[in-house]
Amino acid sequence: MFTPKIGIDLGTCNSVVFVPKKGLVLNEPSVVAVSLSENKILAVGLEAKEMTGRTPDTIRVYRPLKDGVIAEYRITEAMLRHFINKVLGKHHLFKPELMVGVPAGITSTERRAVIEAGIAAGARAVYVAKEPILAAIGAGIPINSCSGHMIVDIGGGTAEVAVISLGGIVNAGSVRSAGDKIDEAIADYIKKKYNLSIGSQTAEEVKMKIGTALKDNDEKIMEVTGRDLILGLPRTVKVSSNEICDASQDILNEIIQNIKQVLWATPAELSADIMDKGMIVSGGGALLRNIDGLISQETGVPCFIAETPLLCVAKGTGVVLENLETYKKSIMSKR
Ligand code: ADP
Ligand code: MG
Repeated sequence: MFTPKIGIDLGTCNSVVFVPKKGLVLNEPSVVAVSLSENKILAVGLEAKEMTGRTPDTIRVYRPLKDGVIAEYRITEAMLRHFINKVLGKHHLFKPELMVGVPAGITSTERRAVIEAGIAAGARAVYVAKEPILAAIGAGIPINSCSGHMIVDIGGGTAEVAVISLGGIVNAGSVRSAGDKIDEAIADYIKKKYNLSIGSQTAEEVKMKIGTALKDNDEKIMEVTGRDLILGLPRTVKVSSNEICDASQDILNEIIQNIKQVLWATPAELSADIMDKGMIVSGGGALLRNIDGLISQETGVPCFIAETPLLCVAKGTGVVLENLETYKKSIMSKR
């Protein structure tokens, strides 16, 4: 019987879908807009994300995943169904097998929720694998080799660090401080310094456009519009990249501390391997300017950004689906 295979990076911020032999077929924010009056889904993905902060009372925008795990079960199920239908067509004949990336520190209950949501969304079977392993595979790291590799994945909700050797995670650490917290810190900074309230979408835009992990010699400037907290009227201020760097420091420090803790707990042989090859950074946070510079400056270990960091986990799901035998040790469960 023909069984379509679909790999999904079910991220807190973005969901990326990979189909073996086709490649990346979908990359959308993990956001769902629901009409409360009709109790139906209005939009999924980019269209829904653009509604954030702009909805009337009758529409609610959900981000159904929080810290990498399912927070809103029904909405996640609907989102998965939407992805499956988009890939296979609405009236597909064959139920697919899914490979879904989950955080390394997931509990068995959280893992079961992912599997059940996938089945409820119409999958025949759901495999799950740990995201750091998938990210490493997607970044082209030979994870089954007898050598230590370190991967740092900075997403929206969590920053995860893992040392991988012989196809398994040797030690890992995760902090719930990553891209989203940086956005919040930027909004807070602008609120305190300029008495200006900005939305989360604007804060993220500022981070992407001028954000940096290390101070710039040649500062970048951006105009930011929000609502004046005293007058209540729209107002525009100019902010610099170094101000945004200051605003992001505390969160970046938490990520660095997490990396250091994993390094401290790494056995000597593997430490030497990591020093030799450097660590690889994946996830959207890898796109923050100079994040590699900050990490190597703080840890003394060379640091490289993966090619297409936002797509590593999804690519990893595709590689695993295409080579299930090779990676069966890294896959956690199935139903
Ligand atoms: P998740 O796996 O949690 O869905 P992603 O790996 O998709 O997360 O990364 C999303 C995070 O990356 C968001 O916080 C987003 O703001 C951030 N991000 C994306 N592009 C950039 C960029 N160019 N500069 C800085 N941060 C970015
Ligand atoms: Mg991710």
